[in-house]
Amino acid sequence: MEAVMNNVTIEKAKTSKIKDVDFDNLSFGSIYTDHMLVCDYKNGQWQAPKVVPYQPITLDPSSKIFHYGQSIFEGMKAYKDESGSVWLFRPLENFKRLNKSAKRMAMPELPESYFMDGLTTLLHVDSDWIPQNAGSSLYIRPFMFASGNGFHASPADEYKFIICCAPSGSYFSGKVKVLIEKQYSRAANGGVGFAKTGGNYAGQFYPTRLAAEKGYQQVIWTDDNNHEFIEEAGAMNVFVRINDTLLTAPTNDRILDGITRKSILDIAEDEGIKTEIRKVSVKEVVDAAKNGSLKEMFGAGTAAVVSPISAFGYEGVDYDLPELKDSYASLLKKRITDIQYNRAEDKFGWRHEVV
Ligand SMILES: *Cc1c(COP(=O)(O)O)cnc(C)c1O
Repeated sequence: MEAVMNNVTIEKAKTSKIKDVDFDNLSFGSIYTDHMLVCDYKNGQWQAPKVVPYQPITLDPSSKIFHYGQSIFEGMKAYKDESGSVWLFRPLENFKRLNKSAKRMAMPELPESYFMDGLTTLLHVDSDWIPQNAGSSLYIRPFMFASGNGFHASPADEYKFIICCAPSGSYFSGKVKVLIEKQYSRAANGGVGFAKTGGNYAGQFYPTRLAAEKGYQQVIWTDDNNHEFIEEAGAMNVFVRINDTLLTAPTNDRILDGITRKSILDIAEDEGIKTEIRKVSVKEVVDAAKNGSLKEMFGAGTAAVVSPISAFGYEGVDYDLPELKDSYASLLKKRITDIQYNRAEDKFGWRHEVV
């Protein structure tokens, strides 16, 4: 049976897997809803998006994704409030960033209506999968890759855009200990660090594994030039609080322009917290840790929202951060999640109802 909604055709799954899901004990991003959105690019244009049952995809071994890594993604969440209404958080920012990543990777840009109508139709079909428990949400993974084939090292002529969803609990449990990286780099000037492309993450796994062997859960990436300035925390933007000022690096072609990052900056300003967007040197952070003015460090991203850092390692020395009762991290996390879950007024106009 096929239905149509928002110009998106819907092919329903014959059976649902939802009965097997324990919504009280959700992990992060490891079970998937009954449906997915698929949109193919061929003959120079995007074909109409379709909602179909979640299923494997078949690709030629010569598909360019396997050889040249044209692959980009986004990460978003859908939130269900107490009355059962469903909300997205600044979804057009994800859409715009997807196309920014696509452009950098020589992939075709997607029309806004395909993204938004496709996503909202998928959320309608799988709305029962959006968890209502505190801290839980539906993690949404839009992604695009080169499905066209050929060993010639050039952009593919066919692509797939897919959205899959995973009901999820919270991402990190507890505070993390991080290592400030002095040898490896995540991104370089003129490179692809600002794009959400798969290779950026593949390149992080090995240094992160080395850090894990030394007892650190994450790596703080520094600039590729002299490893002098801190840039990102794993796959999150990074904030540092020295005394009562909240610092974060300006975005550039090495740093991903996080939606959580910019929302936190706006909320902090609204709270009267002094913020500075500027280069933050490792020396400044180490000195602040030594003289007691370093109060907090945390990562910021959609998955974990805010991920507090308990300690950092640098040049063989570990520096502990204080345990604060009234941390900026917890205040900012509460304010942003209260907006996301429709528990507070949204003076910024960030919430987007899925109707
Ligand atoms: C996705 C991502 C972030 C966070 O972006 P959000 O829009 O806040 O989710 C930060 N850094 C990197 C490297 C990322 O991939």
